[in-house]
Amino acid sequence: MTRILLASRNAKKLKELRRILDDAGVAGVEIVGLDDVPPYEEAPETGATFEENALAKARDGAAATGLPCVADDSGLEVDALNGMPGVLSARWSGRHGDDGANNALLLAQLGDVPDERRGARFVSTCALVTPGGSETVVRGEWPGTVNREPVGDGGFGYDPLFVPEGGTGTAAELTPAEKDAVSHRGRALALLLAELAALGG
Ligand code: IMP
Repeated sequence: MTRILLASRNAKKLKELRRILDDAGVAGVEIVGLDDVPPYEEAPETGATFEENALAKARDGAAATGLPCVADDSGLEVDALNGMPGVLSARWSGRHGDDGANNALLLAQLGDVPDERRGARFVSTCALVTPGGSETVVRGEWPGTVNREPVGDGGFGYDPLFVPEGGTGTAAELTPAEKDAVSHRGRALALLLAELAALGG
């Protein structure tokens, strides 16, 4: 069994990656999280792009643990804000992880933006770095628009404001399985499947 580190403490992300591997019939790999390995110094996310942040996290994890390491960085790119909040998504209101304040600020900023210019996309980049030095970075995108009010209580972050393309409801109205099947993170992780399967032998 090959242990692969997912550089995260988020139980939902760990569960999601395990489910994606199971559904694809990938055997021989065990996904462990940051709480399952000896602690190491985690650098702050200071990159200008999702790719830089994901790759830095995966390099740190592989170097510290000697395990192949997957790391992700994600956020919301809003057309009317020239792609912001982008890498600043988690701290857009000034407080890290305050979803309510982040959503309120985004809504206020887009108050006068007409429906036809409310385009946005969730982006997830995932990096896989092996102790041998192989590095892969992939990107998944989920296009949609920013709603005029929060709707739904599922999901997290900007989900209550995000209306995925082709649907009428927000991402916060989807079940976890429905969201994973189409989301930016699900799409990015799917692009790493073949390489993860190869690590399993
Ligand atoms: P992280 O990459 O998990 O640190 O996520 C960065 C930030 O992007 C989160 O705090 C959310 O604000 C936003 N974000 C990323 N993915 C999603 C999603 O699937 N739904 C809603 N917000 C998201």
